[in-house]
Amino acid sequence: MPLSIENQNKLDAFWAYCVKNQYFNLGYPESADFDYGNLERFMRFSINNCGDWAEYCNYLLNSFDFEKEVMEFFADLFRIPFEDSWGYVTNGGTEGNMFGCYLARELYPDSTLFYSKDTHYSVAKIVKLLRIKSQVVESLPNGEIDYDDLMAKIKASGEEHPIIFANIGTTVLGAVDNIDTIQNRMTAAGFKRSDYYIHADAALSGMILPYVDHPQPFNFADGVDSIGVSGHKMIGTPIPCGVVVAKRSNVDKISVEIDYIAAHDKTITGSRNGHTPLFLWQAIKYYTFEEQKARIAHCLKMAEYAVARFNKNGIDAWRNDNSITVVFPCPSEEVWKKHCLATSRGYAHLITTAHHLDTDKIDALIEDVAADRNRRSKAA
Ligand SMILES: *Cc1c(COP(=O)(O)O)cnc(C)c1O
Repeated sequence: MPLSIENQNKLDAFWAYCVKNQYFNLGYPESADFDYGNLERFMRFSINNCGDWAEYCNYLLNSFDFEKEVMEFFADLFRIPFEDSWGYVTNGGTEGNMFGCYLARELYPDSTLFYSKDTHYSVAKIVKLLRIKSQVVESLPNGEIDYDDLMAKIKASGEEHPIIFANIGTTVLGAVDNIDTIQNRMTAAGFKRSDYYIHADAALSGMILPYVDHPQPFNFADGVDSIGVSGHKMIGTPIPCGVVVAKRSNVDKISVEIDYIAAHDKTITGSRNGHTPLFLWQAIKYYTFEEQKARIAHCLKMAEYAVARFNKNGIDAWRNDNSITVVFPCPSEEVWKKHCLATSRGYAHLITTAHHLDTDKIDALIEDVAADRNRRSKAA
């Protein structure tokens, strides 16, 4: 049966709303500069990537070939030989973090997970779901983990195999926990590298750091054991997704055999989205390395511009190295609501994602924040 006129109208109204607000976001990290029109024809198929892309699957409508190429790309980007890696296309950053924490807990079942106060809220959910012991570590003013407090808490716990959750770009301040510093401090405390696990949450910055000239350490060559990145953030996709990459030798220990689909499964969910690997595949094929680098350089330049313009207006804005997250004191509710900004602990931020080709929206926001500040300082 066709839809009633009323229902059709409802959909049409939502379409108009989406078109109008397509590029609305200044406060969230979702890039909207994509065109996947080429893939719309696949919406008529029930594509399902149930199980592991590396195994034979009875369910013929899968996009495993594309998922495999996506995983080859990210293994290379995160500096691990493809044959030594294993990972998959997830529902987003949260599932990647869950997979990393699950893997670490299977390796060290009674251990404690250490994460900083600036860690994404998904981790508090994950430790509950996985029932991992956990400790929250203080943060430095710029949002990095407090290394002294991390070491003090690890030492006090007496843990022989600590699990360290490192932020590669925090959600609010865009801060990167320094993997080198953490490993040096662990060595100084008498730990061998094989004694502990580091998962890197690189939801946004995992797609930025490989393309900058002076990245903070973040990849497998730098020492991480697993890493998760979101697909709908820096890359941009119409459906949330992500990628998680881990070491094959660790993943082999958690494989589960399922007779029903005649395959081994290492993933968290049963059915998995078969369309999102196509989006990611098209995204990685669409840009050459140099083009992606230029796209990201543009975002970083816009962030630099925003900080300078805020500062010129007397507003104390700043950003962390290699970050497209510009932090400033939270303006009045009226202003942050108008611009749909995320706010936290007295801060607001603007994220210069790739669909901001000119400075119009950024300028309008800065003018409103400056006017708001002047109004408030007059009233005080
Ligand atoms: C966005 C974000 C997440 C969660 O990612 P989703 O893709 O929304 O599940 C995790 N960690 C950080 C640092 C994030 O910014």
